[in-house]
Amino acid sequence: MLLLGWSAFSLFKKFMNPDASKFSNTKNGKKMLACSVCDTHVPESDAIIKNGKTFCSKEHSE
Ligand SMILES: [Zn+2]
Repeated sequence: MLLLGWSAFSLFKKFMNPDASKFSNTKNGKKMLACSVCDTHVPESDAIIKNGKTFCSKEHSE
C-alpha cells in the first residue's frame, strides 16, 4: 500500500507542476526543449535557439 501511495503522490506532483516537465530530461537522457511558438518538444540537438528562445523549426524561429 505504501508503494501505491507513493505512485499516486508522484502522479499528483506531476499533475500539479506540468511546467517542470518542459525542461526536464527524457528517459534516454536526451534533453528536450519546448518550442516557444507551438510548444512542441524537440531534442536539444534539433532545436533552434534564437534570442534565448527555443524553436522546433526554422519557420517558427522567424
Ligand atoms: Zn514550433
